[in-house]
Amino acid sequence: MDCVVCPSCELKFDVDSEEMRTDGPMPRRFCHPCDRSGKKKAFTNEESRLRMKERMLTSPEKVMLCDARKRAKKKGFEFNLDESDIVIPDTCPVFGIPLFKGNGLQCPNSPSLDRLDSKLGYVKGNVVVISWKANDTKGDSTLAEIDAVIRWMEKTITNLPAQQPESQQAA
Ligand SMILES: [Zn+2]
Repeated sequence: MDCVVCPSCELKFDVDSEEMRTDGPMPRRFCHPCDRSGKKKAFTNEESRLRMKERMLTSPEKVMLCDARKRAKKKGFEFNLDESDIVIPDTCPVFGIPLFKGNGLQCPNSPSLDRLDSKLGYVKGNVVVISWKANDTKGDSTLAEIDAVIRWMEKTITNLPAQQPESQQAA
């Protein structure tokens, strides 16, 4: 008798069982209860996270190059990079925080490909790897725009009401 193991709940089922039977040409991968409960989705998310983690550990430059090519195509940017253009430093050149390659999750410390001039595409000379936090902070702002934000922050933060001692204790 042929048995299959549902990779989500890890229970063993007979291929002809109620849980595994299918009307289509393809065998079921997950059992019916897992499919219905949505557990399968959580499992495949975890699975894809682990696969990404592995790819980011073995060849993070390839992953970033591939992602950049996809983004360029989607957004209509020029693209002429190859793997040698993706250089991942140990720390973010902007914030100095360590860059994590391969925890499989996007976090502030994830390496991220920045286009120096956001009007230009993913072209040689226009990309550098910085932390996702730095890239997110910069967005598509120009130097003049960032400068305006800094001047505005400096002005407004110095005008904030003085903090109450109670609220400092509470925090
Ligand atoms: Zn299952």
